Amino acid sequence: EKAALEAYRGKETVTGDGEKVLLVANIGNPDDANVAAEHDAEGVGLFRSEFLFMDAKELPTEDEQFAAYQKVALRMKDEPVIIRTLDVGGDKEIPYLNLQKEDNPFMGFRAVRYCLNNPEQYKVQLTALLRASAFGDVKIMLPLVTTLDEVRQAKALVEECKKELDERGVAYNKDIEVGTMIETPAASLIADDLAEECDFFSIGTNDLIGYTMCADRGNDRVSYLYTVYQPAVLRSLKRIIETGRAKGIMVGMCGEAAADPLLIPVLLSFGLNEFSVSAPSILRTRKIISEWSKEEADALTEKVMKCKTATEVKVMLQAAQK
Ligand code: PEP
Ligand code: MG
Repeated sequence: EKAALEAYRGKETVTGDGEKVLLVANIGNPDDANVAAEHDAEGVGLFRSEFLFMDAKELPTEDEQFAAYQKVALRMKDEPVIIRTLDVGGDKEIPYLNLQKEDNPFMGFRAVRYCLNNPEQYKVQLTALLRASAFGDVKIMLPLVTTLDEVRQAKALVEECKKELDERGVAYNKDIEVGTMIETPAASLIADDLAEECDFFSIGTNDLIGYTMCADRGNDRVSYLYTVYQPAVLRSLKRIIETGRAKGIMVGMCGEAAADPLLIPVLLSFGLNEFSVSAPSILRTRKIISEWSKEEADALTEKVMKCKTATEVKVMLQAAQK
């Protein structure tokens, strides 16, 4: 099987009828960029920047952050590198930030909420990202967005940082793209408005499934609910992807579901343009994408979207597996 996958190394990622799809990697630290490149990733679809913060004893400085982001940008040459701003809270704790204990941290003061409430601290990260954009195709991505205001506020901070870099005479990409994760039901429901303000979407199914189904991924007793095959989740994915594409922006997916072999034809049928997966899943994902024509994927997806239960969906996808 490994040898069969090696045939896909160095190849473009295209569907059965030759449509180009971007196949990129999720990484957690700058060294992972080497692993991604070794596995033939066409860029980085999610750099989880919180690991820089979690591995430190205090806030990483602008220069420290810049060095990490620049390293990934340089390693990926001209390929896209999507770096997500600090996604603190929920399952990701950073002791030195001294955040208050909350009864329900997954619904609390976290991610972009925390960052926008600490704009001076957020600007350090945004400035470091802008500086790195002079060395590659760096894009900024916002985590856990639920409102249009959050995107507008973050973009306003990016503009402030650009002005300050101009004053400092430091180079950056003036057209840097700013996009958002779609990983909450709220973001899914307002995807049309978000698309007006965002250069791209990346769907975070890990959180989207949990928040849509009200089911914690770590809780065995509700794991039957925590699945991408739930019709509620599939309808949300369809809506996000079709809305983003209709508005003319790139729609990717960086949650685990992007690497699910069974789901790939459905995502292709919805119009997903970018799959961001762990490095070891790259070649297998490229192979499966190449096996599906639009016509076949559409026919399967039409049947899948008529299923009433997750079990029916899964059985149908398994039967269709190549
Ligand atoms: C997601 O929620 O799907 C995602 C990619 O983000 P994380 O797993 O880091 O929460
Ligand atoms: Mg998430």
